[in-house]
Amino acid sequence: MTIGGAAVRATGTFGVINPATGEVAERAPDASRDQLDAAMTAARAAYPAWRRDEAARREALLAAADLLFARSEEIGRILTLEQGKPLTDATMEVVGAGVWLKYFAGLELPGEVIRDDADARVEVVRRPMGVVAAITPWNYPLLLAVWKLAPALLAGNTVVLKPSPFTPLSSLKLGEVLRGVLPPGVLNVVTGGDRLGAWMTAHEVPRKISFTGSVATGKRVAAAAAPDLKRVTLELGGNDPAILLDDVDPGAVAARLFGGAFQNNGQVCSAIKRVYAPEALYGDVVDALAEQARAARVGDGMREDVQYGPINNRPQYERVGELVAEAVAGGARAAAGGGPIDRPGYFFEPTILADVADGARIVDEEQFGPALPVIKYTDLDEALARANGTHFGLSGSVWGTDADRAAEVAAELECGTAWVNTHLALSPSQPFGGIKWSGVGVENGTWGLYGFTEIQVIHRSKT
Ligand code: NAD
Repeated sequence: MTIGGAAVRATGTFGVINPATGEVAERAPDASRDQLDAAMTAARAAYPAWRRDEAARREALLAAADLLFARSEEIGRILTLEQGKPLTDATMEVVGAGVWLKYFAGLELPGEVIRDDADARVEVVRRPMGVVAAITPWNYPLLLAVWKLAPALLAGNTVVLKPSPFTPLSSLKLGEVLRGVLPPGVLNVVTGGDRLGAWMTAHEVPRKISFTGSVATGKRVAAAAAPDLKRVTLELGGNDPAILLDDVDPGAVAARLFGGAFQNNGQVCSAIKRVYAPEALYGDVVDALAEQARAARVGDGMREDVQYGPINNRPQYERVGELVAEAVAGGARAAAGGGPIDRPGYFFEPTILADVADGARIVDEEQFGPALPVIKYTDLDEALARANGTHFGLSGSVWGTDADRAAEVAAELECGTAWVNTHLALSPSQPFGGIKWSGVGVENGTWGLYGFTEIQVIHRSKT
């Protein structure tokens, strides 16, 4: 682990499984409570000097970006080993993390003089919060860690990062690599099970919890942060609808729709998780998606010709299998795929489910895997009502040849990001977050940076 700028070994360890084999590939440190205390203390000690030197922070973030660009393949291999995604995607994730660091290195820290007259000068500035506890999930371990630490560090905070126990290795490596460019204590990386996350949220030192994960855990985090009013940003689950309008060309949009649903094997918070297709086009939409699914190359992410790796972990693999089997038992038709692939590891066929409706768990819940239900609708208002009729509100998309009409419908979606004729288009400058149970606050852009600051008013009397 990285604590106070030094490599620290834990007394206990836990196994990290390669999802392509189902076997333990490495062991990761299981931090003790004392080690978490040490990480928090180191972060607190590093804070005063770090927050004062903005130029040094920008320089360090740029240097961090360069390190990730230079070592993207090496870190990408670690990511593939523990997460399962193909090496090209893993390497791109590391490069993406570098792009985010670079963006934040150059982002202006907003401040505004709101009054300057004979009597007073009043300035509104954004000050850092102190120590930030960052907790991340297993689908994009490296990128989502950097979504937190780049803006947190730019704003002048120091960070204690805890990755998911399913994917700790890439974050451990990140801590190790960045020791070269960040002062001791500015970024600490600790690993362990879920209890370590709970210890962090209840810990007295952090003033902010930046959390990405499931709705259920997000609610626990919010409750744990409440007693001492820690600030929270919660990036939680989604159940994104894609609504196809009656003027859509199924063949023309199929590849993009499929990509929006199956990127990272469907293990994306804001992937398309249910498709609503008009009755007249229903058969064509199902066929076009099924064709995409059948052509997808699934296998060990270390192999060059592979597009989709295994599901990341056994509980998730079992859950996806259960949701698909339950839908089929309830009358759904697997137009492509439909079950696990018979080989070691957590491989599952890219699955398109037809003749399925709201009320089935695979439609109502977040499946977070390579199985996509396609639902028939006859009335657009009814489709919108069904799309909005859940506790989720992360993102959604509307697809049609008349893009203006599609944009009007998209504005009716109750979610943080509404895409038109695309899905999963994200950038460092574009705020991203969910409404309803999908989250609190946003990440990215100036708005994301605000989340790692408090407003301070500097009111100077001139009289
Ligand atoms: P999870 O909630 O099980 O775990 C997320 C992290 O929280 C892990 O590091 C875990 O160890 C930690 N944790 C567990 N219990 C905790 C507790 N009581 N207190 C503090 N931390 C605790 O989620 P997951 O299964 O790793 O990730 C999948 C979920 O994440 C999906 O629902 C997905 O939609 C969501 N997600 C959301 C976004 C987003 O930006 N909105 C991005 C990626 C993933």
